[in-house]
Amino acid sequence: MAMKSINPATGEEIAEFDTWDQATLDDVVTQVGYGFADWAKLTTLEERCLLLKRMADVLRDDQDILAELITLEMGKLYSEAQAEVEKCAMLCDYYAEHAPAQLADEIIESGASKSYVAYLPLGVVLGVMPWNYPFWQVFRFAVPAVTVGNMALLKHASNVPQCALAIQEVFRKAGYPDGVFTTLMIGADKVESVIRHPAVQAVSLTGSEPAGRKVAAVAGEELKKTVLELGGSDAFIVMDDAHIKTAVEGAVKGRFLNMGQSCIASKRFIVDSMIYDEFIEAFKTAVEDKFVVGDPMDKETTLAPMARQDLLDELHGQVTASVELGAEIVTGGYQLDRPGCYYAPTILTNISSNMPAFSEEFFGPVAIVLKATEPAHALGLANATDFGLGGSIWSNDIATAETMARGMESGATYINSITFSDPRLPFGGVKNSGYGRELSEHGIREFTNIKTIWIK
Ligand code: NDP
Repeated sequence: MAMKSINPATGEEIAEFDTWDQATLDDVVTQVGYGFADWAKLTTLEERCLLLKRMADVLRDDQDILAELITLEMGKLYSEAQAEVEKCAMLCDYYAEHAPAQLADEIIESGASKSYVAYLPLGVVLGVMPWNYPFWQVFRFAVPAVTVGNMALLKHASNVPQCALAIQEVFRKAGYPDGVFTTLMIGADKVESVIRHPAVQAVSLTGSEPAGRKVAAVAGEELKKTVLELGGSDAFIVMDDAHIKTAVEGAVKGRFLNMGQSCIASKRFIVDSMIYDEFIEAFKTAVEDKFVVGDPMDKETTLAPMARQDLLDELHGQVTASVELGAEIVTGGYQLDRPGCYYAPTILTNISSNMPAFSEEFFGPVAIVLKATEPAHALGLANATDFGLGGSIWSNDIATAETMARGMESGATYINSITFSDPRLPFGGVKNSGYGRELSEHGIREFTNIKTIWIK
């Protein structure tokens, strides 16, 4: 089966790649397994951090070419793609500076003459990654993994094969030995065999809940560690004392960045009834004024296509089903009449609990607005979801917002800001958003053997 690279702005096929057969795949994974001993034992952490600095340089030198590839393959605005590549470089800078302290031996007094914890590599780690941030998601998994001394295998989403190969080339150009980072040209059907391969020790998956369940089930049978980041339906609570203009600016950015195709996008806007009408009016105006449709490579464009037609169809199906059950469209609600996967920025109101808009993740440019009668009601609505990734609270009463933040069932809650990932802070979810953490010292320790050494 071939993997196709299709430009979502035009629908044109731009490249096609053959996928590997099982024998080729098994052989590559076996060879990568053999390479682990050299990588982990013959390089020091300092040498691996030096490679990170070189990789940051490669990313910055090639930023424009890589950004163009991202835009061509999955459709995001070129300026957003450039920012994504820069963020990957910043991640390399971050771990180059902090990994030595984060992975240093930790002396622990225990009655021994010496006892300590050492953070040692596990072996080969598989990353199953999505298309929405085709560089950032991969770097977020691979950079800490290889810096510890692990080998990284990438099974990227089938719609971004050129990004997948370009990332491997970035590692090669930075000077990483062959095999330390390897792109596997396979579809989802071959992931199980990679997880079951004896050389593979662990899996990190970012993507949908069904994909996460499938991968975790196989890894569970094999007793191999998993980290899962499975999306969310983040609440954006606007309290009655919030600064409405700031909240609306946050709402537009939080919902429509990356055309809404982000796990930590603000998805459910829970607005206090005292300011509900004012918020809706300002939100509608901001959405209708902001967007200029066009080629995502073009500087003037602010409305980019979604990544694939099937994803647009699924989103539109969720909108239609909600409207049939009584939801009201404030603006948008249709595919634009032009080539490519363009969906009108949409706001839905009058939501009730039997609608997809209440319970499902909307992975695209559709804002769902709910009305809350008081803070406790707002928090109850925020937690009335199977997901638990991020969320935000907009209020001038920081003390109350902080108490609510602690009560929100999520891996992160931001106050007076949209949720965003930051290399310095742990990233991950609770409930059906997955488990484990990426980034920060918590992320780099996920794929280590946290080993006790005890000397009498
Ligand atoms: P998927 O979860 O299907 O894809 C993510 C990755 O998982 C891809 O590499 C995919 O491979 C792989 N995969 C899919 N199914 C399996 C499986 N059974 N076993 C092993 N690997 C698998 O996401 P989609 O691209 O289909 O997007 C659909 C939905 O996923 C979105 O609407 C959104 O809800 C969610 N999503 C969440 C993201 C996040 O950041 N948390 C990112 C992207 C999507 P392949 O491409 O070959 O199918």
